[in-house]
Amino acid sequence: MPQTGAFESELRERATDMCELCRAAGELGIRPVPPAADSAARCILVCETCISQIEGTAELDDKHWFCLREAVWSEVPVVQVQSYRLLRRLEGSAWADDLLTQIYLSDEVKAWADAIDNAKAQGVKTLDSNGTELFDGDAVTLIKDLEVKGAGFTAKRGTLVKNIRLIDDPDNIEGRVNKITIVLKTQFLKRA
Ligand SMILES: [Zn+2]
Repeated sequence: MPQTGAFESELRERATDMCELCRAAGELGIRPVPPAADSAARCILVCETCISQIEGTAELDDKHWFCLREAVWSEVPVVQVQSYRLLRRLEGSAWADDLLTQIYLSDEVKAWADAIDNAKAQGVKTLDSNGTELFDGDAVTLIKDLEVKGAGFTAKRGTLVKNIRLIDDPDNIEGRVNKITIVLKTQFLKRA
């Protein structure tokens, strides 16, 4: 199962212990960059300021995102994808519009970067294993034992996960199990 904690050491090495978007040091967290969050190549290591704005718990601060002028030229595809998606959210700001015209993404990276917008445009919903639509704040139960790699425990079938959060990827949600936020595949969940 996708479990972002498992990639932490690999990510820290790649990121040289700095936020991969704004280069801040200090408290860093792992964010999946959907679809799929099954490897370090699909996750980024970012600071609290970046995370809160990516997740929408804080307003987008134009000035903070000037860092994208560098991040967008990263050699790491997942950093390019996250930077591009943020720039799209900042469209309308002159500097972001400028950058969007300059940016170069390979066809493969561009397809990944646009995948979520395409899914949203098609009205793709997040559904549990029974096809019931899930919403932010729902509670779900696991319908099978899931090994949480890297964290050293198995989340047992029947475990109740409260207050889930939808992410951009309709095949996965985020929830807290054993006080760790993990990404859970919706095919192994049932709305409680
Ligand atoms: Zn940051």
